[in-house]
Amino acid sequence: MALWFEESQEERQVLGPFREFLKAEVAEGAAERDRTGAFPWELVRKLSEFGVFGATVPEAYGGAGLSTRLFARMVEEIAYVDGALALTVASHNSLATGHILLAGNERQKALFLPKLASGEALGAWGLTEPGAGSDAAGLKTRAEPVAGGFILNGTKQFITQGSVAGVYVIMARTDPPVGEKRHLGISAFAFFRPEKGLKVGRKEEKLGLNASDTAQLLLEDLFVPEEALLGERGKAFYDVLRVLDGGRIGIAAMAVGLGRAALDYALRYAKEREAFGRPIAEFQGVSFKLAEMATELEAARLLYLKAAELKDAGRPFALEAAQAKLFASEVAVKACDEAIQILGGYGYIKDYPVERYWRDARLTRIGEGTSEVLKVVIARRLLEGV
Ligand SMILES: Cc1cc2nc3c(=O)[nH]c(=O)nc-3n(C[C@H](O)[C@H](O)[C@H](O)COP(=O)(O)OP(=O)(O)OC[C@H]3O[C@@H](n4cnc5c(N)ncnc54)[C@H](O)[C@@H]3O)c2cc1C
Repeated sequence: MALWFEESQEERQVLGPFREFLKAEVAEGAAERDRTGAFPWELVRKLSEFGVFGATVPEAYGGAGLSTRLFARMVEEIAYVDGALALTVASHNSLATGHILLAGNERQKALFLPKLASGEALGAWGLTEPGAGSDAAGLKTRAEPVAGGFILNGTKQFITQGSVAGVYVIMARTDPPVGEKRHLGISAFAFFRPEKGLKVGRKEEKLGLNASDTAQLLLEDLFVPEEALLGERGKAFYDVLRVLDGGRIGIAAMAVGLGRAALDYALRYAKEREAFGRPIAEFQGVSFKLAEMATELEAARLLYLKAAELKDAGRPFALEAAQAKLFASEVAVKACDEAIQILGGYGYIKDYPVERYWRDARLTRIGEGTSEVLKVVIARRLLEGV
């Protein structure tokens, strides 16, 4: 029997062909996609054949019905070859799709999930605003109740799949805060890409993850019917926190994939590159870096596997997911940075992939909870338990 941290037979069956596909069809074009920033529609279509876009969606709604653990392993493998594609897959599954899975009623699940699971529609999830990121309860987008529905007005910032999505989940204030409780009064809405009322604003030019779509959304008198309300009116913030908890497992897995890619490249390079008449891997100053990178990345993977297994078991996992993302993102960025160092001047040049790994990994310390905010989350949980 496989130990819990080893690949099970099911995982080997899924991941084996998946890795071969990624190596054959995704790896080679990643640098070019990073350069052009073109959204990889063709790869989305091909990846959908592996059930990736409905990985954790139950089969009854057209999904693959996989565990969170196996989904996270798939995200890690995608990130190993293409960080931008990993973010597309992770955010689509964990955020918009995850929110509908968590809070949707039967009608909403039947309406949206099959299209999301097949990859026919990508999901975008709008929480962040120009004036409200970490402090998401400060969001200003308003949803005014009107006959038959709500009218949404506001601006959403940095929305992954913002300009390419077919399904949107948007958080907006329907009701005033209750006393000091700003998180109350916020609601979520799920709807297909509307013909009017939702405009794509700036498409962001980023440090990395260039082939992942990041856009501003301008909601201008957008009418959504009452049935678009996702979960309980005014109480969406509780669901938002749970969605983010799950999302952090995917981002941790993405970080590990990028860190591993940097480690493997640096390992091969250190064995081949010679200085002072010997391979640089023979210098302790280089080999110790590799030892630290490998050890920290292994620990990061164990942390996200633990969080994923707790989620799959239906047990609390918010603390573990925050710890996994905090640690994985920090050690992945460090590993990518050390890989650049091991390659010396070549590490700084775009002909070699390690600078891209670093640029891509850098987002993992920011998105779905910055490292600082995660420390707040972790510390609060620890102190509550004392
Ligand atoms: C590429 C990309 C994709 C994204 N995708 C999405 C998406 O799909 N949907 C979505 O809704 N959002 C998305 N985001 C937004 C992302 O989640 C936010 O950028 C992030 O939450 C941080 O918010 P902010 O940028 O407003 O920074 P701020 O909240 O302004 O933070 C600025 C700095 O202050 C620190 N800080 C803030 N509060 C505290 C505190 N209490 N204690 C200590 N330090 C603190 C932060 O850690 C950070 O260092 C994306 C962002 C990027 C860059």
